Parts: sequence; C-alpha cells; structure tokens
Amino acid sequence: MGPPGAGKGTQAKRLVEAFGMTHLSSGDIFRAEKASGSARGKKLAEYMDAGALVPDEVVVSMMADAITRANSQAGLMLDGFPRTTAQAQALDKQLVAAKAPLDAVVVITAPSEAIVERITGRRVCSCGQAYHGKFLPPKKAGVCDACGSALSQRADDTEKVVRDRLTAYNRQTEPVIAYYRACGRVRMIEVDGAKAPDAVTADLMRALKGA
Ligand code: ADP
Ligand code: ADP
Ligand code: ZN
Repeated sequence: MGPPGAGKGTQAKRLVEAFGMTHLSSGDIFRAEKASGSARGKKLAEYMDAGALVPDEVVVSMMADAITRANSQAGLMLDGFPRTTAQAQALDKQLVAAKAPLDAVVVITAPSEAIVERITGRRVCSCGQAYHGKFLPPKKAGVCDACGSALSQRADDTEKVVRDRLTAYNRQTEPVIAYYRACGRVRMIEVDGAKAPDAVTADLMRALKGA
C-alpha cells in the first residue's frame, strides 16, 4: 500500500523476482482491460482517466477472478488492491475461504511534495517496468532495459489527475491501513519510500525475511 508514486510497482517487481511470488497489480489488470476495448474496459476508463477509484463491485469481482486464476504456490504480491475497506473485507472473506491468510501488509510512505515529480516523470513499459527520467532512468533513453520496447507515459500521469488520485488515496485508501492495524492478525511493515529505490528495497528485504 502507499500513495501514487510511493514506489509500489517498482518495489513489488523487485520483491517478486527475489521471492518468486506472482505479482498482481490491479492498475495493470485494469489497464489491460481498458486496452482490450471491451465495454467493461470503457467503463473502467471513465474512472481511471479522472483519477477516481473504480467502484468496489467491479474491483472486487475482477480481483477475485485474478487471484483465483493465479493459484500461485509461491504466494501472491497484491499491488494496488485493496484500496477501500469494503475491498479489504471482500479480500478477507476470499482468503479465509481459500485458507490463504495475508502474511504481511506493506506500507510504503512517501512525502507528498515528491509525488507530483515522480508521477509526471514516470515512463512505463508494457512489460510492467517503470522508469523515471531523473530518479530511475533506463540505460537508453525511451527504451526498456528489461525488454527493449519503447516507453510511454500513462494517460493519468498528469499533475491535475495525480492530485485527484492523491485525494482519493487520503480519503478512501488510508483508512485501509487502520483497518489492518485494528484487526491485529496481520503483520504490518512500514518503510520510508522517500529513500532512494535501492535503499527502500534493502529495507523491505530485511523486514520481509523476518516475516
Ligand atoms: P507506484 O506504483 O506506487 O505508483 P512506481 O513504482 O511506479 O509507484 O514509481 C513511481 C515513479 O517514481 C516511477 O517513475 C519510478 O521510477 C519512480 N520511483 C520509484 N521509487 C522511487 C524512489 N524511491 N525514489 C525516487 N523515484 C522513485
Ligand atoms: P498508482 O500505482 O499510480 O497508485 P495504479 O496503477 O495502481 O496507480 O492505479 C491506476 C488507477 O486504476 C487508479 O487511479 C484507479 O482509477 C484504478 N484502480 C487501481 N486499483 C484500484 C482499486 N483497488 N480500487 C479502485 N480503483 C483502482
Ligand atoms: Zn519492458
């Protein structure tokens, strides 16, 4: 968990490479649906392009399917889901039924003044890798190190839309952290996302190895 630009996707990718879980990013799943041009994708775009959260019923049904389909023995890394307490409650139910409890909730904090610069400078690849012109540049400008494809900018990575995404985060997603704290059954790991990417990874590896 963490605000837009905290480094969730960047760190999740590194952790799944180290630990072998399956990475499920709700944003990536929704963008793929959007790109397919389906009726459901068009509905998702209305919310995503405006920086608003997609309604819970849609999110819960799509993520429940993705979790069931992933069926990973090595575990799952959920990135960007749940983002509301209603989503967290639905996830709890599904995980209880599957006898697959949450091992940890990872919260990456980030200073709000850094967020706009990180988001507007973000460049992404269709393989899921994210770069930043200043903070995490690719070896060759505009080209993905991992797969050689051309990088692009997300439609919602503008200053205006990110401000709305941040408001949605503060209002709707931050309470989910309190929800997990209050439930008392899940290990909470909080890392300082203001540090450089490699330092954040080192903090996470240390915390997760102890989990
Ligand atoms: P999120 O998934 O939380 O929205 P990303 O992992 O996509 O965030 O990172 C947002 C942007 O900030 C990307 O351009 C990424 O390269 C860059 N970035 C990620 N982690 C850091 C960091 N620790 N310091 C500076 N920039 C970062
Ligand atoms: P970021 O990594 O920058 O926080 P994401 O890629 O996770 O952004 O999400 C992009 C958009 O997809 C969100 O602004 C929202 O519209 C939608 N979205 C992703 N995950 C969820 C979710 N769990 N609940 C509702 N909307 C979501
Ligand atoms: Zn790539």
